Amino acid sequence: MSTPDEKISRRSVLKAGAALVPTTALRPRPWRRQNPGPHVVVIGAGAFGGWTALNLLRRGARVTLCDTWGPGHSRASSGGESRVIRHTYNERIYVDWVIRSLDLWRENQQRWGRALYHEAGVLWMVQDDETYETTALTHLDAAGVAYERLSDAELATRWPQINPEGIRWAIYEPEAGYLLARRGCEAVRDAFVAEGGEYRQVACVGADTGAGEMRSVGLSDGSTLAVDAYVFACGPWLGYFFADLLGPLITTSRQEVYYFGTPARVTDFNDGTLPVWIDSGGRFWYGIPGAERRGFKMADDQHGGTVDPTTQDRQLSAAGIRRAREYLEFRFPGMRGAPLIEGRVCQYENSPDGHFIIDRHPLAANAWIVGGGSGHGYKHGPALGEYTAGLILDDGETEAMFSLARFA
Ligand SMILES: Cc1cc2nc3c(=O)[nH]c(=O)nc-3n(C[C@H](O)[C@H](O)[C@H](O)COP(=O)(O)OP(=O)(O)OC[C@H]3O[C@@H](n4cnc5c(N)ncnc54)[C@H](O)[C@@H]3O)c2cc1C
Repeated sequence: MSTPDEKISRRSVLKAGAALVPTTALRPRPWRRQNPGPHVVVIGAGAFGGWTALNLLRRGARVTLCDTWGPGHSRASSGGESRVIRHTYNERIYVDWVIRSLDLWRENQQRWGRALYHEAGVLWMVQDDETYETTALTHLDAAGVAYERLSDAELATRWPQINPEGIRWAIYEPEAGYLLARRGCEAVRDAFVAEGGEYRQVACVGADTGAGEMRSVGLSDGSTLAVDAYVFACGPWLGYFFADLLGPLITTSRQEVYYFGTPARVTDFNDGTLPVWIDSGGRFWYGIPGAERRGFKMADDQHGGTVDPTTQDRQLSAAGIRRAREYLEFRFPGMRGAPLIEGRVCQYENSPDGHFIIDRHPLAANAWIVGGGSGHGYKHGPALGEYTAGLILDDGETEAMFSLARFA
């Protein structure tokens, strides 16, 4: 859905002489004094847009959530069965967001009567370069996150189904695991509607801006929405919608996911027996055993070629399958000869530094860009939604690491 917005572009920003930072001339409206709350439209019902819409609603805003194809659809970055949730990060803010998100996943799933978070544990295996992990451990200690540091021998004793060759040590997080992805987006949308939000399955096809503000957005059903604030959480489509502003910043890379069938009558490769695992050496392979009875899920984090999220071919490549099988049979010898029973092709929407983009549009103080999940955003949905709703309603300034100004 390549709908580049002609009216708001990086070129026009630069022509207008504006830097990629919100200027004091572009002051947002005083939402806090508005009663009833402002009307906000959120474009995109993936992990980022859905949780932002729900948090805005719960804080008193009137919210309209729009999505072209629906929450967690098969082309969305939040689609598919499952996502890893772990605290091991080398940036403290992400550790804190995972702590908060886990609380919110638990609290909300209980409220909704749905099991979205599965505490299968996460095992992070360290090979040669341990810089990331040693920094992460200082954050885990400071934040009080439960973990065990395991030697290669301890790893081999605890999970003999893993070949420990090349692994020097590991971090095991018992209070971590996986989330149901597509179902999570659906649950958030359902809660949003049940709590009074308006959901519309339409595409946003353009935006009108002027005098430092966004005035309205046009929708694919021919209607126009003129509201107080606008949130664009369009995932991999952000670079298409704001082509000149975000096209050069958000790269959309092809990512393949493989599901191998586990042997009959063997439970070694199921959740409950084997935790979610990450092998930080080489291509950064990771896997989620057993989620939703789909088999042994695995994928590598290496970025594939640049793709269009609307039109990319979603068949697995022969080279990818061969690489996955080689890794599988090396690291998990008991899976030798396992049939490939399913596959998915998705995409990451990568920012240049892998950090999220949560900021006002440089030309419109009441329009927010929320994206750049960069292959690790799903787990953060609840905390990110809370943070973004706070920025919008409390007239806040974003963290430097999430700002557009960092790319100026
Ligand atoms: C294979 C894979 C594995 C991953 N693994 C993990 C993991 O283990 N842990 C983790 O935390 N994260 C993981 N991620 C990353 C995470 O899934 C993403 O960062 C996150 O889901 C991004 O959510 P989003 O809401 O920004 O984008 P999306 O889910 O793509 O949502 C954007 C939505 O916007 C809608 N939209 C776009 N343009 C318009 C428009 N003009 N009008 C209306 N609607 C529009 C789309 O239809 C879409 O539904 C993974 C991603 C992939 C692809």
